Amino acid sequence: MSRAYPFEEFSPWTPTRPEPEPALCDDLRADVVIVGGGYTGLSTALSLRSEGADVIVLERDFAGFGASGRNAGHLTPTIGKDLPTLLRFFGAERASALVRFADAAVECTEEVIEKHQIDCGYARCGNVLAGLHPKHEAPLKRAADTARRLGARVRYVSGPEMRERGIPPAFRCGVLEECGGTLNPGQYVRGLRAAALRAGVRLFEGTAVAALEDGAPVVARAEAGTVTADSAVLATNAYTDSVGRLRRRVTPLRVSLFETAPLGEESLASLGWQGREGIYTAHEALESYQLTARGTIVGGSKVVRYAFGSGLAPGYDPAAFEVIGGAFRERFPGLSDVEIACYWGGWIGMTLDFLPAFGSEGAHRNIHHGVGFCGHGVAQATLVGQMLAQRIQGREHPCEAALRRRVLAWPPEPLRWGAAKLIMGALDLLDARTDRQIRGLSREPSRSAAA
Ligand SMILES: Cc1cc2nc3c(=O)[nH]c(=O)nc-3n(C[C@H](O)[C@H](O)[C@H](O)COP(=O)(O)OP(=O)(O)OC[C@H]3O[C@@H](n4cnc5c(N)ncnc54)[C@H](O)[C@@H]3O)c2cc1C
Repeated sequence: MSRAYPFEEFSPWTPTRPEPEPALCDDLRADVVIVGGGYTGLSTALSLRSEGADVIVLERDFAGFGASGRNAGHLTPTIGKDLPTLLRFFGAERASALVRFADAAVECTEEVIEKHQIDCGYARCGNVLAGLHPKHEAPLKRAADTARRLGARVRYVSGPEMRERGIPPAFRCGVLEECGGTLNPGQYVRGLRAAALRAGVRLFEGTAVAALEDGAPVVARAEAGTVTADSAVLATNAYTDSVGRLRRRVTPLRVSLFETAPLGEESLASLGWQGREGIYTAHEALESYQLTARGTIVGGSKVVRYAFGSGLAPGYDPAAFEVIGGAFRERFPGLSDVEIACYWGGWIGMTLDFLPAFGSEGAHRNIHHGVGFCGHGVAQATLVGQMLAQRIQGREHPCEAALRRRVLAWPPEPLRWGAAKLIMGALDLLDARTDRQIRGLSREPSRSAAA
């Protein structure tokens, strides 16, 4: 019989929820109607309100229910699959513009946190893309060089510097992203929600939009009411299919995380990691680790699930929990007595080229979207919200050009399922090989010490 894992349907970041806002049960008029109350929707709403627009946000569950309330909390300028891949596909000019977009996204999020005094435990500690095996050193050095040439604020961190910083020894070397850091994502989205309500945004929770009817004005239709508006925004990321739009551009993938019990003073002292840098590993499907402000470790990713028909892959996933829990034990052998308190997960919105889809559609070009953050939306979604607001006000944000392209279409089913299985299977095989090599190293203490 398989083991039972402690599981949270939503996420442990914010154990209590604020009083819900009412559901829509009327026919209302607004300048702009926004579908989705995560970082994208709330950031768009706040920006529009600051310019005096009358804004309604319609949220199916509660603001923060999606990836914004569930993620791993790395505020990172990471963009695309990786920068060498961006360079290969898009050339130096576009890749540099994307680096500027990603940096601007981190800065913009920091400004929003500061401006609205959001208490989300933000630590400006940077994030390290860590190598776990000597074979990672050369590619990471090359990646750091490429990134610097493209203008990214990153640098290679050698083994000795990693040890000086107290980063746990499983993480041998790395590329340090000097801007960004870690935060409590649930408190961040809750802070955005509170700021939006204070600013006069009309938020309706428990209100699923079934359709956006094209026209000037556009009509958002929910079960018990409608909103008629000059413009609409789709801020539904992985759930975009629920509104029946952009089906071929973004698809949901399930990712699982865990949080340990609090480490306790002794374990924290022996762990080191005093700089609390966020860590992700140089796997094809990365592992992520954050030492939280509440003295726990949040980690996971590594296993990605696709459900046939772009459905939402189920949440309780013992096989994934086994893998991410096992990886944590291998990376942190000194914490063998620390329990994993809970597992949870969420859905990321994935595009085929790993870049967000940003644009406008409909006969009147008044249905705008910012979706498909491919697991990097903590910073990007906040900036994209501001970009959407500017577009609605008839202005072009300087970062728009970087995202302008023909967004590749996912193939229809069953090809999509086949392609997803094939890609993820190949990445799993590569990572399984890497993990075997890492385990081999730890069985060879002399070579391990020399490396
Ligand atoms: C497990 C996990 C870990 C992650 N870790 C990181 C990380 O460390 N760093 C990082 O940068 N990014 C990370 N991400 C990605 C990041 O969380 C997302 O990119 C970001 O939260 C997207 O915000 P959003 O507002 O676009 O979407 P969401 O937060 O998903 O919001 C969409 C909202 O739309 C609502 N909705 C959907 N359909 C409808 C409808 N029909 N009507 C009304 N409302 C609707 C949903 O309920 C939801 O609240 C992670 C994601 C996951 C799932």
